Amino acid sequence: MSFSQKMDENSLKLGPGLPRRTTIDYEGAIIGAGPYGLSAAAHLRASGISVRVFGEPMAFWAQKMPEGMLLRSPRVASNISDPTHMFTLESFETAFGKPPNAPVPLGTFVDYGKWFCKHFSEDLDQKNVVSIRPERQGFVVVLESGDNLRVQRVVVAAGIGPFKRTPDVFKHLDSALASHCYDGRSVRSFAGRRVAVIGAGQSALESAALLHEAGAEVEVIAKIPHLRWIGMHQWLHKLGPISSLLYSHHDIGPAGISRLVAMPNVLRHLPLELRDKIRIRAVRPAGSQWLPERLTKVKVSTGRMVTDARAVGDGVRMKLDDGSERSAHHVLMGTGYSVDIDKYEFMSPELLKGVQLFDGYPVLTSGFCSSVPGLHFIGATAARSFGPLLYFVTGTEFASRQLTSYITRNRNR
Ligand SMILES: Cc1cc2nc3c(=O)[nH]c(=O)nc-3n(C[C@H](O)[C@H](O)[C@H](O)COP(=O)(O)OP(=O)(O)OC[C@H]3O[C@@H](n4cnc5c(N)ncnc54)[C@H](O)[C@@H]3O)c2cc1C
Repeated sequence: MSFSQKMDENSLKLGPGLPRRTTIDYEGAIIGAGPYGLSAAAHLRASGISVRVFGEPMAFWAQKMPEGMLLRSPRVASNISDPTHMFTLESFETAFGKPPNAPVPLGTFVDYGKWFCKHFSEDLDQKNVVSIRPERQGFVVVLESGDNLRVQRVVVAAGIGPFKRTPDVFKHLDSALASHCYDGRSVRSFAGRRVAVIGAGQSALESAALLHEAGAEVEVIAKIPHLRWIGMHQWLHKLGPISSLLYSHHDIGPAGISRLVAMPNVLRHLPLELRDKIRIRAVRPAGSQWLPERLTKVKVSTGRMVTDARAVGDGVRMKLDDGSERSAHHVLMGTGYSVDIDKYEFMSPELLKGVQLFDGYPVLTSGFCSSVPGLHFIGATAARSFGPLLYFVTGTEFASRQLTSYITRNRNR
């Protein structure tokens, strides 16, 4: 039976509002078809739980990341988890005769995610979800088409798209003059233009390299005193069993912290202050090892902040905190993101009201369940509870297993 047939049969009209159903359409709805949503779908389905995944597969990676980007995570930490471990990055490359490149090119990862999705596509609906509201027996999920369905549980795997951080000083500028790295602009359009890149994290530094290679005149402006590079102590990775004590295969964070990050269930029980320190240290702004060489010809101003920015002619005139000035045709902000689930427009106010938060992150139980029974959050929104593993694709294994085990145990509650 098709989804729409099922909906028609179940629908009872309740006045002028939404059709109401007498039965549950699915046990779970997953919002977002990125690595977390797809992985959760694979695990839940294998446990016999009926789920529907919403959204265009891998849309964030395909549309919002800089063209030509390389993944910062190692190959072994770039697998989307499925319960059989059959759908790894390596299986995809073998199936399509692709070379096992390291670092992994963005295009390969997007194709891998879409291939992964094909194996679990029966339960995919590419439409976006526009609203979720609670009701007595679960939730009503409304799609952009106007269709709606009733589910017992909702798993929010909607990523970080709405959370991009725009410093106040650039907020008033038109998007043609100032944009965020996560707006996924093609670097080619900046050939021959002057571009100021703000920030010192992977996105900022990689975008600076790509812009420079595309023929733009680039300056990186960063408030930290020196640029930092990930994995500069390679010798620590070559000490055999000692290295394994210092680093986990996820490779998130420096020696020692990397091991803690790999234990999200331990992190969850640490005091919030300590958990935050570990999280912030593990993902502090830094660029991958392959970037310094590509940035040798790029001007870098560290220890500086932009204090004023205004549109002048066809560009932007900026003042820095040392009194110097810069002008550029475009400002590209690699200024990261701040999780704030209020910014998920599909969350109805009545639903949001019930979600207990710390600084925009939902407070979660061991099964990624929020304070609203049946409402789960996976991916970056879970990082305040479980640590920085959840910011990365490699966290899909932990999240999907934990979520599935919780839902299986609490199925009819
Ligand atoms: C520039 C950059 C580089 C990165 N590099 C790496 C890396 O090398 N390795 C790594 O592990 N991580 C990297 N990350 C982090 C990366 O974003 C996460 O690891 C990954 O995307 C998490 O997957 P996700 O499924 O939670 O989110 P996403 O991949 O963002 O997927 C969420 C999906 O939900 C969809 N969605 C949102 N709202 C709705 C709605 N209402 N209805 C339907 N669908 C919706 C979105 O369109 C999106 O496709 C990088 C991030 C950035 C910005």
